[in-house]
Amino acid sequence: MLLLKDARPLAEKIAEYLRLHSKAGHIAVAGSIRRCLEAVSDIDIVAGTAAGDDLLDFAQSLPGIGTRLERSLTRLSVLLTVGVKLSIHVVEPPDFFAALYYYTGSAAHNAQIAAWAKQAGFSWSEQGLFAATGEKILLRDEQELCRLLKLAYIVPELREGYAEIDLARAGKLPLLVTAADMKGGLHVHTDYSDGSDTIAGLRQAAQRLGWAYLGISDHSQSAFYAGGLKTAAVLKQRREIDQLNATSDFTILAGIESDIKPDGSLDYSDDILAGFDFVIASVHSAFKQDEQTMTKRIIKAMSNRYVSILGHATGRLLLKRAGVRIDLPAVIEAAAQTGTILEINCNPNRLDLDWRWHGQAKAAGVLLAVNPDAHSIAELSYLDNGLASARKGGLTANDIINTRSLKELRLLLRRKR
Ligand SMILES: [Zn+2]
Ligand SMILES: [Zn+2]
Repeated sequence: MLLLKDARPLAEKIAEYLRLHSKAGHIAVAGSIRRCLEAVSDIDIVAGTAAGDDLLDFAQSLPGIGTRLERSLTRLSVLLTVGVKLSIHVVEPPDFFAALYYYTGSAAHNAQIAAWAKQAGFSWSEQGLFAATGEKILLRDEQELCRLLKLAYIVPELREGYAEIDLARAGKLPLLVTAADMKGGLHVHTDYSDGSDTIAGLRQAAQRLGWAYLGISDHSQSAFYAGGLKTAAVLKQRREIDQLNATSDFTILAGIESDIKPDGSLDYSDDILAGFDFVIASVHSAFKQDEQTMTKRIIKAMSNRYVSILGHATGRLLLKRAGVRIDLPAVIEAAAQTGTILEINCNPNRLDLDWRWHGQAKAAGVLLAVNPDAHSIAELSYLDNGLASARKGGLTANDIINTRSLKELRLLLRRKR
């Protein structure tokens, strides 16, 4: 398995390599990478070329091939030394878009498309789309497949085989949030705690990214291992932020990532918490508590009126550490009851809250924050990872607080006070 952040550039590099072939034709990365799955075990590449056999011969010279698994006229499958399976599917150029759609969808999605196509008088398979007469229908693009099947267009991120086909049939697919909707990011660490850049440097970078605001949230005092801020440092940082804000029309919000102690209390007194523009509450210790204790702990933290956002709800580290034991439906319910926003942590190792829970949070009326959890200027771009996750979770701009204007955002961050 590879994290998406590693698998995607690798797949793009392989696609680039294949494009070196003089008759490469049209080449695209498909599969779980195109669906933006957070961790993948397969790389699928589709090539629409009249010289498929030649291209597959050429592909055998790719660096990094471990075991060869399959070589037919239309496919080369190998195990890469990095531990993922690479499959290159070649089709004739007119079949490219059908193949791209087929090799992008999950097995469940393709089975559901096949069942729906049959009902609609077509047949759908690896070979493409066929009319009832048995005649193959060539597609000009992927949208055409959905149009012919009387479905709203299903974007790659949603092709998992959950409810997307029913929604597409009913014309009720969500209008997914896009990069253009994002107005800024909260949850950014500075050199006051374990981040590597200054507040001024981060502000400049955020402005370059076109953000309208930036939320600083360093670690709190019990996170001693991460240089958490004692009260004096909190006050000093607040003064620095106020000074920076006084000399610019760009707004830095002064927040904190406050540790949730094992008993569910936070590690500052209420009068200190009241001084922040927003408070993210996160678990960074006592990960091994049983489900009931952990759930109670987190719900207690969310019932604190100064807590705007629950940070990385499960604390998972993808492919490394499972999340804490927690009753997520109960946490989502408590978020709705208390007006607490749930974080989608954009660190590619976290992506927590997992996209599979976004729909449930949205249905409960919970808002989400796509938070970079950046520890450097470069990591501000983590926002894109969380955005992909939010799209996969079916969220719209309206479901996410950092698509809002600064004025609206401020109100949402303080609405429990
Ligand atoms: Zn954290
Ligand atoms: Zn953090």
